[in-house]
Amino acid sequence: MPKVIVANYKMNGSKKLYATIVKKINKLKVMDTRIVLCPPFVYLDEFRLKNRSVSLGCQDITNEDNSKSTGQISPSMLLEFRVKYVIVGHSERRKLGEKDEQINEKVKICLNNGLLPIICVGEEKKSDKLDSVLLQVEQALKSTPKDTSPIIAYEPVWAIGTGKLPEVARINRMSKKIRDKIRDLGYQNCVVLYGGSVNKDNFKEIISSEIDGLLLGGVSLRIDEFIEIVKGIDNE
Ligand code: PEP
Repeated sequence: MPKVIVANYKMNGSKKLYATIVKKINKLKVMDTRIVLCPPFVYLDEFRLKNRSVSLGCQDITNEDNSKSTGQISPSMLLEFRVKYVIVGHSERRKLGEKDEQINEKVKICLNNGLLPIICVGEEKKSDKLDSVLLQVEQALKSTPKDTSPIIAYEPVWAIGTGKLPEVARINRMSKKIRDKIRDLGYQNCVVLYGGSVNKDNFKEIISSEIDGLLLGGVSLRIDEFIEIVKGIDNE
C-alpha cells in the first residue's frame, strides 16, 4: 500500500508562498506515495494540481445540513474546488470546543458526499490513558458505513508543534490498538497515520513504525524539507 503524507498548512501561508509550493509539488516525481495538501479554504483555488500523486484536502467542513450556517463550508463547495480529503477533529478545533458528536456529524457529511475524512485523534497528555484515544475513534465513526476504510491520524496533542516525539514503541502500540478497534467495529480496513513534530531529522525513525503515513504541520510550509521527507519515504 502506498504511504500517505498529509500537509496541514493550518492558518498559514499567502498566495505567494502557495504559488511556490504548487510549482514545486507539480514537478515532484514519486513512485509509491500519496500526497494530500490541505490549505486554508481561501487558498484552495491556488492549488491547481497537475501531479497524479497529489490530491487536494482541506482542514474542516460544516457539521450541518443547513444553508443557514454563517461561516460554514459545505461539501458541494469543496467538491467544486476538487477537494477529496477533509481533516476532521483536529485537536486545534477540539480546543475551540468541537465535540465528538460534531466530529461524527462531519465524518458522516464527508462520507455521504464522496469526501474522505482524515479523523484526528490523540491523548492530551503523555500520562493519559491511551484507551481515551480509542473512544475518540469509536465516537467519530458512529453509524458510518462499514464498507469504508477509515483514515485515522494518531496525533498525541502533547506532540503537536512542541518538538516532543513519542517513542516508536508507543506509536506502534497505538497504531495496533486503533487497527484492532476498527476491526472490532466491523470495518475491513483502515489507514493509520502519525502526526506531531515530524521533521527531516526524525521522519525515518517514525516511518519505520507500523503506520501507513504521516500528517505534517509546521514542516509542510518549508517546501524543500517537505519534499526531502516525501522522497525519503518514497524511496524506503
Ligand atoms: C498538526 O498540526 O497536525 C501537526 C502534526 O503539527 P506539527 O507537525 O507542527 O507538530
